[in-house]
Amino acid sequence: MKPTNPARLALNTVTVKERWNLRQAIEGCARHGLRGLAVWREDVNALGLAETKKLLDEHRLAVPALIRGGPFPAIDAAARKAAIDDALRGIDEAVAIGAQSLLLVVGGLPAGSRDLAGARAMVRDAIAAMLPHARAAGMKLALEPLHPMFCADKSVITSLEQANDLCDELEGDSSANLGVVIDAYQTWWDPMLEREIRRAGRHGRLLGLHLDDWHLAPAHMSLDRGMMGDGVIELQKARGWVEDAGFAGFAEVEIFSGHWWAQPGGDVLDTCIARHRATV
Ligand code: ZN
Repeated sequence: MKPTNPARLALNTVTVKERWNLRQAIEGCARHGLRGLAVWREDVNALGLAETKKLLDEHRLAVPALIRGGPFPAIDAAARKAAIDDALRGIDEAVAIGAQSLLLVVGGLPAGSRDLAGARAMVRDAIAAMLPHARAAGMKLALEPLHPMFCADKSVITSLEQANDLCDELEGDSSANLGVVIDAYQTWWDPMLEREIRRAGRHGRLLGLHLDDWHLAPAHMSLDRGMMGDGVIELQKARGWVEDAGFAGFAEVEIFSGHWWAQPGGDVLDTCIARHRATV
């Protein structure tokens, strides 16, 4: 197993979101020697697209992903169209700041609905509607399957196999603008994970690796993700699979955690860097 490459470590701003605004996160990453930062649209729009781009360039930070497009399932056609229009603006914003991809978190069931198949069809149709603009803009759309516990409220795409199937359906072998992100916390449980990572690699559609960990018994579905090394995931194995499948992009620390949000941002970054080296 090759050692981790610190130059490919990136931070997702959500990891320090209670402590640092976007400007502070950019400056903090630069101070700690990180070269990548994944950013959220609300933060980028609050700071301004031009100012964000200027700061990122000044500090020589790449942006593996702008987050996010979606959720897409909605109760009526007008709301579905509004969601697609918003995601299309996300593509333009990703281009404006020089991001490598727009991350899609596709959404769960519309309010009051039990129609899971219908929600999945809405997701497929929304991404199909986005692809021409993504192609014209030269922007990648990155599908992130979430853990099945989020199927109702956050993502009706719950496995890498399902994400790969959707890529096949919408782009076939070309896979030029639609790909997948592997998040350790979301996918570690999946017996098909290694096979599906290889499959994504064969199609050249591996767009990201999110680092975090699964506590043995999480105290909260969304807000108790572990720091790498604090849980049960074989992170070295997962990184090996992804790298063997051809992924050479950023490994991005993305930890939604009340515990880590309470720590000073600089301390969190120091821990991320040390754990990346020791446990990933
Ligand atoms: Zn993730």
